[in-house]
Amino acid sequence: MKNIERLNKIKRIRTWANWNMGLSILFMFVGMGFFLYFRGTGLQSSFQMLFLILLMISFFMMMIGTVLYMISGMVSTSAPVVECPSCHKATKMLGKEDACMFCGQPLRLDEERAQEKKA
Ligand SMILES: [Zn+2]
Repeated sequence: MKNIERLNKIKRIRTWANWNMGLSILFMFVGMGFFLYFRGTGLQSSFQMLFLILLMISFFMMMIGTVLYMISGMVSTSAPVVECPSCHKATKMLGKEDACMFCGQPLRLDEERAQEKKA
């Protein structure tokens, strides 16, 4: 997590989706909390507006998270599985250059070897 360059691409998509979902739920609860706290006071209408905006933002973030999870799932079924040279675990690669899912070891896929795997 320290070095973003060395994070596996599928893992990175999943991390984004996870954060989008978590933050959207947090936003919804924060908006609702403010709305309920200021209900019946003079500030009610402005916090109603804030609640509405936060709900809309969190709805879109939830949609983005869902789509990202869907993309990562579809992509990982077609991604080639390779063995990591440093930790010897089976990891999936996206594109020609990627990093190991477990240890972050940078990996490169050669064109000829990709053909071999398919055949
Ligand atoms: Zn590894």
